[in-house]
Amino acid sequence: MDLLKKKINEEGVVLSDSVLKVDSFLNHGVDPHLMDAIGEEFAGRYGEQSITKVLTIESSGIAPGLMAALKLGVPMIFARKRQSLTQSEGLITSKVYSFTKKEENTISVSGKYIHKGDKVLIIDDFLANGQAAWGLIELAEKAGAEVAGVGIVIEKSFQDGGEILRKKGFRVDSLAQIESLEAGRIRFKEVKAAEANLS
Ligand code: 5GP
Repeated sequence: MDLLKKKINEEGVVLSDSVLKVDSFLNHGVDPHLMDAIGEEFAGRYGEQSITKVLTIESSGIAPGLMAALKLGVPMIFARKRQSLTQSEGLITSKVYSFTKKEENTISVSGKYIHKGDKVLIIDDFLANGQAAWGLIELAEKAGAEVAGVGIVIEKSFQDGGEILRKKGFRVDSLAQIESLEAGRIRFKEVKAAEANLS
């Protein structure tokens, strides 16, 4: 997705060999036009899949998740990282180790909003080691829903989350794939045209 790559090149800050900061448009400030285009892209890729819900995780998955849901014409639900007082009945939980915060969170969704018969598109901002994606897959599966695929805004291909998910048979669609952040430089993975739909 050229618009996204341009934004990453212009505004992304390489914090280390493994961490990219994109606070200006995705993780703190949010660019609505870019989110709109991201939603359109995911909807184009999953439009024929009879998706009934978009499932994401707070907080940075919400913007792309919501736009994907809007364009697909389905509701979005986000997994919470902290339990809310108003949310206690029928909770489905799973554990996720956070790559950026280096801590384990119990994430949860209410079984009221996701259940058997749902076909779910999982959306997140980044894919690194895959912990967040597996946590969301576990939530969907515990709820009895089917996972149609995992849509990621930025995949860091030098970490193994994407490879493991694909090897396990999950469809993973990443809108930008980063091959390396070494020496402070962002290098994108070249995706061949034939692979593009499955990348
Ligand atoms: P994973 O669970 O795949 O190891 O990591 C994905 C989660 O960690 C995402 O939800 C994202 O919030 C965060 N994350 C992982 N790598 C990065 C990164 O390089 N930059 C930012 N901003 N967040 C990241």
